[in-house]
Amino acid sequence: MAFAQQLRVPGPTPLPERVVRAASRPMINHRGPEFAALLRDVEEGLRWALRTENDVLIFPCSGTGGLEAAVVNLLSPGEQALFCSMGSFGDRWADIGTAYGADVLRLKVEAGEPIDPEDVDRILAEHPGVTTVFVTHNETSTGVTNDLAALAAVVKGRGKLLAVDSVSGAGCIPLETDGWHIDALITGSQKGWMAPPGVTMLAVSADGFARAEKTTTPRWYLDFAREQKFQNKSQTYSTPAVSVLYAMQEGLAIMREESMDGVWARHARVGEMVRAGVDALGLKFLAAEGYRSNTVTAMHSPVDGPDALKDLLAALRTRHGLVLAGGQGDLAGKIFRIGHLGMIDEGDVYSILATLEQGLQESGMRSRVGLAVPAAQAVVRSVQVSEQPAGVG
Ligand SMILES: *Cc1c(COP(=O)(O)O)cnc(C)c1O
Repeated sequence: MAFAQQLRVPGPTPLPERVVRAASRPMINHRGPEFAALLRDVEEGLRWALRTENDVLIFPCSGTGGLEAAVVNLLSPGEQALFCSMGSFGDRWADIGTAYGADVLRLKVEAGEPIDPEDVDRILAEHPGVTTVFVTHNETSTGVTNDLAALAAVVKGRGKLLAVDSVSGAGCIPLETDGWHIDALITGSQKGWMAPPGVTMLAVSADGFARAEKTTTPRWYLDFAREQKFQNKSQTYSTPAVSVLYAMQEGLAIMREESMDGVWARHARVGEMVRAGVDALGLKFLAAEGYRSNTVTAMHSPVDGPDALKDLLAALRTRHGLVLAGGQGDLAGKIFRIGHLGMIDEGDVYSILATLEQGLQESGMRSRVGLAVPAAQAVVRSVQVSEQPAGVG
């Protein structure tokens, strides 16, 4: 039996004890001074983590609400926009655009591939009517991270607004909201922020707010201008998800103690460790080399057929308490995924890899164990060596 679950899906992610305690505080008046202080602290923490001076709007929604907010505020019906999709979350965003009547151009790549900045540049040259580009930073369904700096340079070079879904990237992997001139940066509480689900956050540029003043898509709950007006008074328009905001405040405090560079370096190290272990197990990555995500790793199923994969994931869960994710959409039954974002350190990776290897062996898919953890340890050792000052060791 397993005493506790080791939750390693790409969101919701595990919560540090400090966060659990923060989230269980008694309720407060959301129009009172305690909430004003809480909101200001969370906004300031998010600006710090997202590297932006922009206003960060906070809505009680899952991340999809943030994607929808960007569409309804930045586009009018009939307006032409380019949606770049690497998988199900990119598809979802384009579908939202279509649902609200935008003139949606889709750039869709094969599962596992990133978006090529040259393709974006070519499409923007061919379609001068495009006003806005929507792109996923980190595609959680395939484990691919785009070269967002390069994509942003192309989009801004052509003078378009840029909206970025970084729901599973922000707070984990390098992101320069202002440095890359992102007009709407969307993230969600349950991924890298070590908080429960229920809040989406959008950093919106001055150009983004100016666009929203002109767009005509009907909207209310997710209206940028109304929310900004309330947040300027340290309130939110509707009742906020107070407990989730307490959790985010504590999660951000933990991140500040580590430093943003430290958070990024830890995710890079952990991602490399996971990949080294997975590779040592003989599993094949879905994502193209050079674009493999440091927050989620997607692997081809080692077994034939969706039922056998379901059985493997169920055995890991029930026998060992390790909860991994299957594939989404077309990839269901074909791949599985390890989430390694938010609260995760080296010891967690050893545990995940050793357990996965044990599960494969028990299911008769591998004849021996003891390969994955040493491969991950070798990554840590090489990092330690390279961190030593010159001339030492
Ligand atoms: C999780 C996620 C979302 C939002 O999903 P919700 O279930 O609505 O929170 C959007 N985009 C990406 C890339 C995600 O990983």
